[in-house]
Amino acid sequence: MAKIAILERKCDGCGLCAGVCPFGAIEIAGGLAQINGGCKNCATCVKACPKQAIIKLETKTVQVDKTKWRGILVFAEVSAGKLHPVSTELIGKALELAAPLNYEVNAAVVGENIAESAEELRHFGVRTVYAYDDKALYGFKADAWAACVEDTIRLTKPSVVLVGSTLVGRSLAPRLATRFHTGLTADCTQLVLRPDSDLVQIRPAFGGNIMAQIVTQNTRPQFATVRYKVMDAPVRRSEASGEIVYRPIPKGAYDSKIKLLSSQAIPPKKSISDAEVLVVGGRGLKKQQDLEMIRELALLLGGDWAVSRPLVEKGWAGNERQIGLSGRTVRPRLIITFGVSGAIQFASCMNMSEYIVSVNTDPDAPIFNVAHTAVVGDLYEILPELISTLKEGSHERI
Ligand SMILES: Cc1cc2nc3c(=O)[nH]c(=O)nc-3n(C[C@H](O)[C@H](O)[C@H](O)COP(=O)(O)OP(=O)(O)OC[C@H]3O[C@@H](n4cnc5c(N)ncnc54)[C@H](O)[C@@H]3O)c2cc1C
Repeated sequence: MAKIAILERKCDGCGLCAGVCPFGAIEIAGGLAQINGGCKNCATCVKACPKQAIIKLETKTVQVDKTKWRGILVFAEVSAGKLHPVSTELIGKALELAAPLNYEVNAAVVGENIAESAEELRHFGVRTVYAYDDKALYGFKADAWAACVEDTIRLTKPSVVLVGSTLVGRSLAPRLATRFHTGLTADCTQLVLRPDSDLVQIRPAFGGNIMAQIVTQNTRPQFATVRYKVMDAPVRRSEASGEIVYRPIPKGAYDSKIKLLSSQAIPPKKSISDAEVLVVGGRGLKKQQDLEMIRELALLLGGDWAVSRPLVEKGWAGNERQIGLSGRTVRPRLIITFGVSGAIQFASCMNMSEYIVSVNTDPDAPIFNVAHTAVVGDLYEILPELISTLKEGSHERI
């Protein structure tokens, strides 16, 4: 692909280029030449410019030998001395993707005192755990951690690298993708590995109106981040397998530009993503006080409560309670929604729940496309009835 570009520091806005352009694609504005959408890359202006202020940029497509990149690497995140559950979810997905191509699944783990987590990874079916355990890696130092994972990637040449879409993962994955001049797709909701080893990275795009399928065709590795609770967690095997390889810390990791001056552990907050039972209120609720019924039902069912985005926008709930693309992904055993229409931005982040009950007055509400039990009715009749039935202890009747 080619593109004509103006070097602003050289251009004096003389206008010669605009005069010679056969497509009228150059305008002079603010004393500078500017290329508009009519440009056909003919480069007549490049030759005409007396200041060499116009250049033709050519983009070369790099094509790596894909056969030299095999296997799947999972970045296993350890936070506060514990393996983040998204890491094992990713290993489960990696094993499923790897099987038809006979690929190995390996993991990289970075930090200080991570031996226990490295050992734990051996119970999830990875072939090799590459571990980087050193005082210099205490706290998340993005540059130092990236140097370690880069080391594993150079050593093992994986075709695919999976990273959790956590605060750490979202910082680490782009750094790594840049180091390898390759592609990264954030927040994938589905992954499919083609027989030719191209990873189809599926995620909502354009405000959730389409599910985009993104493929990194020419380069390797293929980086994808995935949010917590999107993939199935694999069953922990009682027998450990595979091996742990403790790698020397790459030099770059000791030269981190990030200095950790102090740190303070934030007490872990209860997250709606961890709830087994969720009761959800949507815009069908008429006033903020009505959320009390949602909370009450959640309490009676031993679960937690959540909302759709409009309720957060109204200031009725904090955004940590929001389900959806710009909120959290949830996957409880039971979810009951009241007055939620089921827009794609909401539904795509809860449709993997084990059992979905939805109450809506509109029989055509899209939420019914994902609900296992669809209740067409008024939440102001159903919700109080449910609460009083549960309070009476006669819920066997429900
Ligand atoms: C980029 C982007 C990101 C977004 N991210 C999110 C996100 O993270 N989370 C999210 O939720 N939304 C998100 N949205 C907004 C999303 O598109 C919807 O607007 C939103 O989910 C609608 O919320 P709702 O279902 O509560 O409200 P509505 O769509 O207004 O639905 C209310 C429903 O209540 C029903 N109802 C009304 N009265 C009653 C009653 N008495 N009893 C029973 N049912 C009743 C109605 O029939 C209706 O179906 C996002 C949008 C964009 C563009």
